[in-house]
Amino acid sequence: MEAIIKKITDNIKRYNERSDIDGIMRAYEYAKKAHEGQFRKSGDEYISHPLSVALIMTELEMDAPSVIAAILHDVVEDTSITLQDITEEFGEDVALLVDGVTKIGKIQYTSQEEQQIENLRKMFLAMAKDIRVILIKLADRLHNIRTLKSMTVEKQLRIARETMEVYAPLAHRLGMSKIKGELEDLSLKYLDPIGYQEISDSINQKKLEREKFINSIIEVLTQKLAALEIKCQINGRAKHFYSIYRKMYTQNKTLDEIYDLFAVRVIVDSVSDCYAVLGMVHELYKPMPMRFKDYIAMPKPNMYQSLHTTVIGPFGRPLEIQIRTWEMHTVAEKGIAAHWKYKEGVTSNSESDTKLEWVRQLLEMQKETIDEDDFMRTLKIDLFADEVFVFTPKGDVINLPAGATPIDFAFSIHSAIGYKMMGAKVNSKIVPIDHILKNGDIVEVLTSSSVHGPSRDWLKLVKTSQARNKINQWFKKERREENIVRGRELIEKELRRHSLSHSQLFRDEWIAPILKRYTLATLDDLYASVGYGGLTAQKVVIRLRDEYLKIAKLERDEAMSSLPPEIDYSETKSTKTSSNGIIVHGIDNCLVRLSKCCTPVPGDDIIGFITRGRGVSVHRRDCPNIAPTSLTEEDLDRFIGVSWSTDKLSGEYLSEIQVEADDRTGLLAEITAAITETKIPMRSLNARTTKSNVAIITFTVEISDTTQLETIIRKIRGLPGVYEVMRCTQ
Ligand code: MN
Repeated sequence: MEAIIKKITDNIKRYNERSDIDGIMRAYEYAKKAHEGQFRKSGDEYISHPLSVALIMTELEMDAPSVIAAILHDVVEDTSITLQDITEEFGEDVALLVDGVTKIGKIQYTSQEEQQIENLRKMFLAMAKDIRVILIKLADRLHNIRTLKSMTVEKQLRIARETMEVYAPLAHRLGMSKIKGELEDLSLKYLDPIGYQEISDSINQKKLEREKFINSIIEVLTQKLAALEIKCQINGRAKHFYSIYRKMYTQNKTLDEIYDLFAVRVIVDSVSDCYAVLGMVHELYKPMPMRFKDYIAMPKPNMYQSLHTTVIGPFGRPLEIQIRTWEMHTVAEKGIAAHWKYKEGVTSNSESDTKLEWVRQLLEMQKETIDEDDFMRTLKIDLFADEVFVFTPKGDVINLPAGATPIDFAFSIHSAIGYKMMGAKVNSKIVPIDHILKNGDIVEVLTSSSVHGPSRDWLKLVKTSQARNKINQWFKKERREENIVRGRELIEKELRRHSLSHSQLFRDEWIAPILKRYTLATLDDLYASVGYGGLTAQKVVIRLRDEYLKIAKLERDEAMSSLPPEIDYSETKSTKTSSNGIIVHGIDNCLVRLSKCCTPVPGDDIIGFITRGRGVSVHRRDCPNIAPTSLTEEDLDRFIGVSWSTDKLSGEYLSEIQVEADDRTGLLAEITAAITETKIPMRSLNARTTKSNVAIITFTVEISDTTQLETIIRKIRGLPGVYEVMRCTQ
């Protein structure tokens, strides 16, 4: 034990001499005491395990809190010590790491379906919160699988499979190829002992011969590079067993057919040296076509960088050569751990910057690289905020969006479960149906045959479209009559919001395309669809309104094109103002009358019409009675320019306004109150109700200009149930 702890402290001093050695020693004493009397299956004292894990952490050159947490990683789970104790003794940082490792340790590995395994890996990352937790967990697993021999066969198989399916891929995604290789090789040994042995035997068989071959190449390269004055280290390496195994089985190759069974690795100081070495190698040996890969210019998604080339070596034997810098080498071996630059005295802020920088780089990398590896999807520790992973009681992992409720969970299992759902249990406790699920929750849906379908309120609680669609479907089928009534109500409400009436919009020729578009047969189907939420009332009304406005605009354009001509009488403009505030251009002292059909008020665009014997009658330019279509050719000459006097007008003008609204109690009172509030005198009021229950109210007010008119119109439009407010023309 003392030997291991000494190795740990020696290691950490080597890469960071200001590390918290004291903390590490205290953690050791603390854990030793806590695990006192506990033994591993191998017979070793338990403390040997956490210490070995901590040693692996120092081999990864991790910071002191990670090493301390590694020493303490099993005390909360396996002894009477609480997380609170750890916090008090070693601080929050260490406690959070220990807590993370403990939580991840509780994830049950049961399923073997690929999708399930993928979810499990994601759950690991989502729960870890801090990447160091994953690293401790990987080190923990590495030591456990190194010492797997003493376990039962059943346990060996379970741990080996879990390692192969969850831990090794995680290590790979984090770029930690050294740990990944060891995890895979050790797992293989238990999962397929015969296959493992075969590979091991055949590699060992020709070991001598191969070593001779590799050494001869190393010798040549060393000489050549010395001549080029490139400082380098060259070594030969055998591929990991598992990658050979996989190539043999997936590509159905014999050992001799695997080119990169052995590789020569050249490590140099700079990137330019890498390319210089590559040039030299290609001069020396013939490169095999399509086998050169520049991972320096195009790093792998897990940040791996190197040049790979396969060349035809002496005796026509293919051979892979890898060229990289020392920095690339560290990253290749340690992956994310290599980026864990820890400096004593550096604020925690810049520490998290380092982490963010890593994630940022990965994100950029992912954008640029099209790789079958979905590395990023699983790395996004913080970027997982939008997902949550929970368990079924059987141990299957269900992936839901963050904020999902047991309702989402129920519908993701089966719609029949959702329809019969009466409640839910999370981690064996009854929870409200809108309970927000957390990572790692075990969720159980309580169903009852007396439940007749979902509640409409659930639509507001669910996060998945699956649940929403299923709930909507149910309402669509089960409650048609109710939905029709509800849909109609929703549409009426929406119409009122737009101050439009049903009769204005619901024309057959406009409805038909909507029905077709949503494959509905009848108008009732449309209402029903709105009623259950398949279609929104807003969508329907907006579509109809657009049609309506198109027609209205056409009609208006037509009317505009038939307006009386603009007459410019400015040169002959008179300054005399008639009693009603009208200046008739070119004529003084004539009889001027405001027409009763359109009751113009100051501010309106107006035109004069010379009547036979009754002076000039003044109309709004948009008054239908003076549209050229309703006049004779001869009449057209009788238009005359008029304008409102700019003098302060004392006259009062009568204007008639028509309101269309829902016929409801209190409506009339509210309208009159609204008018009274404006202090504009009302001269008459008339109300009637149409057969379709629309109240038509007309009233006359005495106003001085269009501004007042607009005020009144706006006020009444704002009243509930009012569809339309307009000035009358007769
Ligand atoms: Mn452990």
